[in-house]
Amino acid sequence: MAREDREKIREELVVVGNGMAGCRAVEEVLKRDPHRYHITIFGAEPRVNYNRIMLSPLLAGEKRFEDIIINDEAWYADNGITLIAGDAVVEIDRAARTVKSASGRVVEYDRLVLATGSDPFVLPVPGAKLPGVVTFRDMDDVDAMLRASETGRRAVVIGGGLLGLEAAHGLSLRGMEVTVIHLMPTLMERQLDEAAGFLLKTALEARGQTILTGAETEAILGETHVEGVRLTDGRVIPADIVVMAVGIRPNTVLAQAAGLEVGRGIKVDDHMLTSDPAVLAVGECVEHQDVCYGLVAPLWEMCAALADALTARPSEGYRGSVTSTKLKVAGLDVFSAGDFSGGADCEDIVLRDAARGVYKRVVIRDSRIIGAVLYGDTGDGAWYFQLLREGADISAVRDSLIFGQAFAEGGSFADPRQAVAALSDNAEICGCNGVCKGAITRAISEQGLTTLDAVRSVTKASASCGSCTPQVEMLLSLTLGDDYSGERVVSPMCKCTDFTHDDVRRLILEKALKAIPAVMQALHWKTPDGCSSCRPALNYYLLCAWPGEYADDQQSRFVNERLHANIQKDGTYSVVPRMWGGLTSAKELRAIADVVDKFNIPTVKVTGGQRIDLFGVKKEDLPAVWADLNAAGMVSGHAYGKALRTVKTCVGSEWCRFGTQDSTGLGVRIERMTWGSWMPHKFKIAVSGCPRNCAEATIKDFGIVCVDSGYELHIGGNGGIKVRATDLLCKVATEEEVMEYCAAFIQLYREEARYLERTAPWVERVGLDYIKQRIVEDAEGRAQLAARFRFSQQFHQDDPWASRVAGRDAHLHRPLSLAAE
Ligand SMILES: Cc1cc2nc3c(=O)[nH]c(=O)nc-3n(C[C@H](O)[C@H](O)[C@H](O)COP(=O)(O)OP(=O)(O)OC[C@H]3O[C@@H](n4cnc5c(N)ncnc54)[C@H](O)[C@@H]3O)c2cc1C
Ligand code: SF4
Repeated sequence: MAREDREKIREELVVVGNGMAGCRAVEEVLKRDPHRYHITIFGAEPRVNYNRIMLSPLLAGEKRFEDIIINDEAWYADNGITLIAGDAVVEIDRAARTVKSASGRVVEYDRLVLATGSDPFVLPVPGAKLPGVVTFRDMDDVDAMLRASETGRRAVVIGGGLLGLEAAHGLSLRGMEVTVIHLMPTLMERQLDEAAGFLLKTALEARGQTILTGAETEAILGETHVEGVRLTDGRVIPADIVVMAVGIRPNTVLAQAAGLEVGRGIKVDDHMLTSDPAVLAVGECVEHQDVCYGLVAPLWEMCAALADALTARPSEGYRGSVTSTKLKVAGLDVFSAGDFSGGADCEDIVLRDAARGVYKRVVIRDSRIIGAVLYGDTGDGAWYFQLLREGADISAVRDSLIFGQAFAEGGSFADPRQAVAALSDNAEICGCNGVCKGAITRAISEQGLTTLDAVRSVTKASASCGSCTPQVEMLLSLTLGDDYSGERVVSPMCKCTDFTHDDVRRLILEKALKAIPAVMQALHWKTPDGCSSCRPALNYYLLCAWPGEYADDQQSRFVNERLHANIQKDGTYSVVPRMWGGLTSAKELRAIADVVDKFNIPTVKVTGGQRIDLFGVKKEDLPAVWADLNAAGMVSGHAYGKALRTVKTCVGSEWCRFGTQDSTGLGVRIERMTWGSWMPHKFKIAVSGCPRNCAEATIKDFGIVCVDSGYELHIGGNGGIKVRATDLLCKVATEEEVMEYCAAFIQLYREEARYLERTAPWVERVGLDYIKQRIVEDAEGRAQLAARFRFSQQFHQDDPWASRVAGRDAHLHRPLSLAAE
């Protein structure tokens, strides 16, 4: 069919409102059926669609306008959308199915979507129309505030809610003296209770703002420009600018004039249809089941329902939303969700930690969370919110609920990675863009995304305020496993420091820093205890720098390394005993079989690295499983660790007709030399007995291919998502040389690669020539590297299972109910 004919049969979809809901609705329609409509979007603002939430960071100087654009001009063009910006729709003719804009443009529609948002409420007090009185809703308002901050000194913000406090924060960062006037006794009273409101007020005052609660505005003073604000008690506060942030009202003017049913907002059903089925409405302008919303999360859900309706997809429709709020003021952690008004049928659980300035309150009814307020430590906000939304019965964790997920779930979630792993697919990760966990993990696995930037551009998760970046990175790491190498950038190690990985390693040696708190103190860490990115890296760097001196820090390890077993998707563990060079014996096999029977282990599998993996072991059974395996002489295979995993071998000259050397025997020797060594990432070795390469040595971190005249040494290979074949390092003549080169290469990698950098990217980053120069050309340097490796191995070749079996860290294995006592 010709293009013009196709265009003719497209229905006309007109959207009024180029804001967050209008454009998201269009995105959702395009996702479902990109060819169904010819789309026209009217926007009253003269610009493309941007993230309104980010106006606060924009005002605070943390973002630029380009950073907060959601859809640029190319998006409209690429999707054939006609954008009419800076021309508000002023009339809807429902009979003729047309809309008319302020400039007189008339456009026909088959379906019309109203997404006109809200209007800021302006107090009807004298002087409210004076120049210098602004609201906080769009880019023009931010521009007005920025201009005022350049010339004026004093700002008054009327309204101590979320928006008012964000405006106050921005203006004070711009150097203004700020006074906040709030009618109610408690700041953010719709989100915070009195205690949290008090802490917030105290913190803002400590930052130099003046906060007047219980204060009512009587008039705005000034002749030609605002000069001050008078309160009903007679106080006058001088001002060069007054920001009104006292609430919003759904923008229903057009809908009302067109005769659509309107309450507080435009009335819609579960499919976002208004009283005229050809007209739908979405976003802050609507009223659904008597509720109007003022946050983005509900709007994402509404847009999905609306798009289903517009593309005739059967769907449940929109069922209303439970919302949560975070204050976007750097350094002040405030979280609130649900209903915390309390009442006779509710129970409160409260935690106050005065020294840390932490206040937490969870409101419970019938063993279910109905509200939560967190101040000072909001890390568990997402967890409480998930329990609230799911209506989960919390009886089992009630006693420890207030201490957060890590404690309530028996310590098993002390690892933030595991906390993210435990979230359900529909748990929201990115609040700014309404992206759920399932959407992110699906995008990663289905579209082969391997970097944070890729996830940002495809899903928009973490593309706005960035506060969910750690969770998105954890999802990358959880979905890709060992194939996620972390973000390989030369930027700081993590948000806790300005130093890069390389700087930190250098300074650990230069300053002789020998403990994690010492590194943090000496290098001015910005957080008290670091985070889940820097702690494991520091732990590794210290282990590598000070063998025998530094004591491993268990709390800085991820769950697999803490428990010396791999956690699997159902929460059980898998256990891999070491089998040197892939060899085993009847005694070992018998011991494994007995363990399988005794502990009802459901699955036994041979791994790609020629070892036996026992799947489905319960956490509390791990020590007993290891005790039995230890008794048969078997030790941990480190299959969970950033460590030497396996040395894979082929049968070699002992059995094979082609083998030129004893590859199995050499593999056993190498594994005996290298096991137990901690590395920046997992490390695999293989030895093949001839160039037929049955052990696949040329996709391993260190590969040996035996040839007639000796041994070819290969480096920097890996399987995984991005397969990389090895580079040939050199050829050597004897087994002794193989051992020395192998030890030297591992030590160079251990000393110079960044944590979570596998050998393949490391070799590419530093270059093969550099490695040849250090290992092949510098005989003395090579010998020293190998010596350092062997020295460090004396401290690390102890079986971690054995010490656990002897009772060390037994608490890690207790069942949940015990650990929560
Ligand atoms: C400073 C600020 C910070 C915020 N922070 C958060 C936060 O942290 N978390 C959160 O969840 N929410 C936050 N919000 C609220 C969030 O931005 C809104 O919920 C969201 O923008 C509502 O989307 P909407 O599309 O319904 O309305 P809008 O995004 O306001 O879009 C409506 C658009 O319609 C246009 N329009 C109106 N009438 C017409 C007409 N007749 N013709 C053409 N165009 C018209 C308007 O100009 C506007 O661009 C914040 C809001 C502000 C202002
Ligand atoms: S690599 Fe060579 S020696 Fe080893 S099993 Fe294969 S053919 Fe035999």
